[in-house]
This record gives sequence, C-alpha cells and structure tokens, in this order.
Amino acid sequence: LVTVLRIGHRIKRDKRISTHLALVARAWGVRRIIFTGEKDENLIESVKKINQEWGGNFKIESLCSDEWKTIIMNWKTEKKKIIHLTMYGENLAEFEKTEEFKGLKKNFIDLEEILIVVGGKKVPGKVFNLANWNIAVGNQPHSEVGALAVFLDHLMPNNMRLQFDNANKRIIPSIEGKKVYMEKTNEN
Ligand code: SAM
Repeated sequence: LVTVLRIGHRIKRDKRISTHLALVARAWGVRRIIFTGEKDENLIESVKKINQEWGGNFKIESLCSDEWKTIIMNWKTEKKKIIHLTMYGENLAEFEKTEEFKGLKKNFIDLEEILIVVGGKKVPGKVFNLANWNIAVGNQPHSEVGALAVFLDHLMPNNMRLQFDNANKRIIPSIEGKKVYMEKTNEN
C-alpha cells in the first residue's frame, strides 16, 4: 500500500502539476494522495471526476500547510517506512541494488505501508531527517511528476497494466487510434 504526500501545494501556481501528480499516483495504483499547503477543493473535485469516469478507489485529501509534520510523525510512530524523493538523495539506480529496496518491493503490497514524499518549491530540512531514505531519480533537477512516475514504475513494474473496478470508461489498447469501451449508464 502506497500513500503519496505532496508538500507545499499552491492553488494558483500548482493547479496543473498537482493534478498531474495525483493522476500519475492513481494510474500506478497508489492508494491515497495527500496534499499539504493551501487547501484546495477544486483539486479534490477534479480528481474525483476522474475516478467516476475511469474507476478505482483512489483517495485524495487536501490539508493545510503544516499538517505534513503530523502525517510524517504519525507514520514514524507506527514504524512505517518513508521515502523522500529529492535530487540530492541517493541515486535510485544504487538504491535499487540494496536488500532494503528489494525487501520493500516484495513486501509492501501485503505487509507494509509506504509513504512517498515529494516537494514543491522548497522542502523543509526536517523532511530529509525524518525520511528513512532520501532518493534521487537521477541527480539532476526535474519535477515531482517525473520523479514520482519513474519511482513508482521501478517499485511496481507490473502496474503498467492496471485496470480499475467501477469504471464508466475503459480503454481498449490499440495501435490504430482510439478505442474506448463505455459502460452503459442511465444517461445513455
Ligand atoms: N530543490 C528541490 C529538490 O530537493 O529536489 C527541487 C524542487 S522540484 C521543483 C520539486 C520536487 O520535485 C522536489 O521536492 C522533489 O520531490 C522532486 N524532484 C525534482 N527533481 C528530482 C530528482 N532528480 N529526484 C527526485 N525527486 C526530484
């Protein structure tokens, strides 16, 4: 079970990037994403609409600025693992070789809950200290969306084929254009 925590959401500036972060998390089978920063009802609504159309039980929460501390501290109290994605961290290519990563990959689906933390403009130093691992998806600056997508794909390589229950729309993969199966609803 994976939860993503995104620190420092700003309603105006991060509208698209935060939505994309949620969509990547949902598509890769993350259970829940929590945003802290400015509380944003529109962000929640836009992701709920995607759930209605494309299915699944993905959860989204938007909390105020300093709630990240409570979330991380609770996670630590429960002795659950925290991975912070940052360009300053240990390169994922190295982390992947460790028994710790291999253990996480094997166990988390049934046994463990993992918190993946990504930042925005500036990440408080405390996050670096509280995380079990600070991991870089390459030691070059890029984006939280890119970092999360690549990391999730390394952690859960089989989730490329995920399908969700209760979907109104389902894509039929095709090399020749768009094929979408539409569930019959009362509106049709
Ligand atoms: N100075 C920031 C840092 O610590 O990575 C860069 C800010 S970047 C705009 C926002 C977020 O994207 C970061 O907090 C981090 O979670 C993620 N990010 C950017 N580049 C990354 C990389 N190479 N590896 C892992 N995460 C990265």
